[in-house]
Amino acid sequence: AREAARLNERTTASRDMFERAGRHLSGGVASSYQLRDPWPIYIARGSGPKVWDVDGNEMWDFHNGFGSMVQGHAHPAIGAAIAARYPQGTHFGCPTEDDVVVADELARRFGLPKWRYTNSGSEATMDAIRIARAFTGRDTVMKIFGSYHGHHDTVMVSIGVEYDKIGDRENLESLPYGAGIPQSVVDMTVAVPFNDAGAMERRIERLTVEGRKPACVIMEAAMMNLGVVLPEPGYLEAVRDITRRHGIVLIFDEVKTGLTVAPGGATDKFGVTPDMVTLAKALGGGLPSGAIGGSEDVMAVVEDGSVYQVGTFNGNPLSMAAARASLEQVLTPDAYAHLDRLNHRIVTGCQGVVDKYDLPGYAVGIGSKGCVTFSTSKVVDYETFKENQDAALADLAWLFNLNRGIFMTPGREEEWTLSVTHTDEAIDAYIAVFDELARELRA
Ligand code: PLP
Repeated sequence: AREAARLNERTTASRDMFERAGRHLSGGVASSYQLRDPWPIYIARGSGPKVWDVDGNEMWDFHNGFGSMVQGHAHPAIGAAIAARYPQGTHFGCPTEDDVVVADELARRFGLPKWRYTNSGSEATMDAIRIARAFTGRDTVMKIFGSYHGHHDTVMVSIGVEYDKIGDRENLESLPYGAGIPQSVVDMTVAVPFNDAGAMERRIERLTVEGRKPACVIMEAAMMNLGVVLPEPGYLEAVRDITRRHGIVLIFDEVKTGLTVAPGGATDKFGVTPDMVTLAKALGGGLPSGAIGGSEDVMAVVEDGSVYQVGTFNGNPLSMAAARASLEQVLTPDAYAHLDRLNHRIVTGCQGVVDKYDLPGYAVGIGSKGCVTFSTSKVVDYETFKENQDAALADLAWLFNLNRGIFMTPGREEEWTLSVTHTDEAIDAYIAVFDELARELRA
């Protein structure tokens, strides 16, 4: 209560903005994920690793636009590319040279030869699923229980928060996330637990007998919506093997992991190549963008015209100029070395605090991403996340951080994202605030 009251006092301009916003902006926000009690924090500006809210509070940004701003805010190289593009026109509905350069670079980084663009992660996963359905001639989609792949109907199923209890791991029930999703669509999506290749294969075999063999498995190679959950050794290789043997398209949804955990995302980091990947978030350096990469085989259904992969703003010149500058000038091998070093420091620093004060939890990280998972045992899937998490402590940590200038994504499912502009000073600040929280809890 003390921390909540303190935050409310510090954010009165956000409160006023929220009141004004509510008149014509539904719920006062642009997207339901921006809501938080009792009002959202409205941001005025960002520069490098910092953001300032409308009250003038200066914060180290570990939220980073839901993990999109791995380049840092207002990066000069991206600003220059946007400034150079603008006077030459920002939209034609025709391909530009930057589309070609970015596709070449993504093919090199992710090891998949064929690419298309979208404007968001949701569009990328929607189109990837359609391509997989066309390629296989099947309708069923398999996903991981508790994972988020965007806001289109097929994947707004079995995200997790809609469940009181998990139930039968081998036969998880599919539920829609929110109203307005037709039951007939929900019925086509089947979820299986993360890190359990045996459960996945048994479910595929049962679905095959029922005449509902999946078109695709869509998954994150490392889950990023339950904090950070890494794949157990051998799991991704087993999934690759199972999907190949059953003729199922394997889609790695790299909307969060792509370009943030390694130059070629989780595909590169774990050395397991899927049939397709989806990208968004960090791709456009802060401008809306998304991409789908695929093998020659699978993407043939786009090239022969049987699947319409379309969008007025696909490959928008401004976004692609930003993406090109980001790939060529910002997200370099040196940048990933910097991110790895800082992330190692923040993970070990946080783990040191956990150990020193004997907190229920552990620190976990990969690339530019990580979190402290407040759980008494290791989280390997949604079930272990839900069962053992100290939700009250996770909420308190978020509030405590915000009151001390550490801006994090609201919600217990989210992780930190570092940017190339983060410094040791930012990492020290994060660890110091976490230490202060732990000290107060143990006092
Ligand atoms: N896939 C994953 C793994 C995501 O985390 C998200 C968004 O958080 C999406 C897809 C959807 O992306 P967007 O919000 O750009 O539609």
